[in-house]
Amino acid sequence: MADKKELIIKSVEKHRQLTFDAERFIWKHPQTGYTEWTANEYLIEKFEALGYELVRADQDPKFGKIPGFYTDIVTGKPGPTLAIMGELDALDIANHPESVNGMCHSCGHNAQAASMLGMAAALKEPGMLDGLCGTIRLMLVPAEEMIQLAFRSGLIKEGTISYMGGKVEFMHRGYFDGVDMAMMVHQSSSDKPVDFTCGLGNNGCMAKTITYKGKSSHAGGAPHMGINAQYAAMLGLQACNDLRETLQEKDTIRFHPILKGANCAVNIIPDEMVIESYVRGRSIEAMKRENLKFNRALAGAAAAMGCKLNINDKPGYSPEIHDKMFMQLVEETCGELVGKERVAFDYDAWSTGSSDFGDLTCVMPGVQFQTTGATGTGHGIDYILADPERLCINGIKAQLLVAEKLLKDDAACAKAIIDQYEPRYASIKDFFDDISALDMEKDVVSYEEDGSVRLCFKK
Ligand SMILES: [Zn+2]
Ligand SMILES: [Zn+2]
Repeated sequence: MADKKELIIKSVEKHRQLTFDAERFIWKHPQTGYTEWTANEYLIEKFEALGYELVRADQDPKFGKIPGFYTDIVTGKPGPTLAIMGELDALDIANHPESVNGMCHSCGHNAQAASMLGMAAALKEPGMLDGLCGTIRLMLVPAEEMIQLAFRSGLIKEGTISYMGGKVEFMHRGYFDGVDMAMMVHQSSSDKPVDFTCGLGNNGCMAKTITYKGKSSHAGGAPHMGINAQYAAMLGLQACNDLRETLQEKDTIRFHPILKGANCAVNIIPDEMVIESYVRGRSIEAMKRENLKFNRALAGAAAAMGCKLNINDKPGYSPEIHDKMFMQLVEETCGELVGKERVAFDYDAWSTGSSDFGDLTCVMPGVQFQTTGATGTGHGIDYILADPERLCINGIKAQLLVAEKLLKDDAACAKAIIDQYEPRYASIKDFFDDISALDMEKDVVSYEEDGSVRLCFKK
């Protein structure tokens, strides 16, 4: 193992510049989910130049064209399949000083994507697969950030995608069929003096597009002829805010609406106001329960103002729960790489953010851990990938060393983790059946001829 460890480290370092060049290129070409065509094209060219055959999500005859791809590295000996993935998408954050067309990699996914290229190059070095069994599936996935809900709902309506998040869409397309376990690294701007961090997991989420529909009229001369959708939206959010004290700490619910703005002049009563929000929580059950309360509050406010209301609820991401045995293996491996004192794994820590990696952890053992080296605030205008050596190179080394441990000796270690893992769903199909309960699009307030007002949230 000592020789192999050295080979892995040397192979990663040999392709350091390729990794750093990709990190800078993708940073300078940020694009948001399902439009990451520039990074996609760049990486496809580089992967193909390394000799990889790709399954491309833009060339799948059964589905719409989206960015992303995967390749299987087959050892030749039967064994489990390990997926290692990196994300492609940026954020809308126009005030970041390095934003391009209003977008920036303020979550650092460019470093993930670049690391996948460095990893692919390292795995082509002689001897890297010696002694391993099974398959390593390298995946570049689009659309982790759950943003631009109207755009993505449009993609669903036109049939390009079926799900808002890239990994969920990849699951739906069958790209995870036959995969036994999954791993990825995210970037972090932790202020602790460590190189790797990891918690137990994080919240799931669902996506909401809330559209109040009123009636425009002259704001000065005839407000009585209009119905103010902006006021109805504000009232709806007030009602939701008043419900916050009924939320229970154990559920770690987060509701963070954003008003999308009035589409009219100041002297017009706004006839439409769109709100986007998530409901996040520690379990799907809690999210369903609290979402119903928020929907009732939003609809009650519409009724108070005589306004119509369309609610478009879509499944988002499932709560992410890392497999503890897999996590221990990653922790031990990171410690061997950089020293135990530079590794901070917390088996109880829970984040209230969300990731579509959570959906994978519903059906297979998975770990998403962090490399440090970014500075500033994640999703903030001061976020910078200051130390690509720690962010990228450390991450590639750690993941390849973990893969080595998992798949050597007839994959004894991988099999032990898979055997003790208890899936939340028996199959990917069962998973989709459950999350489909979160899907609802309808006008929820109706005004009857007899004067009664009806609120209805049934599909
Ligand atoms: Zn993010
Ligand atoms: Zn992210």
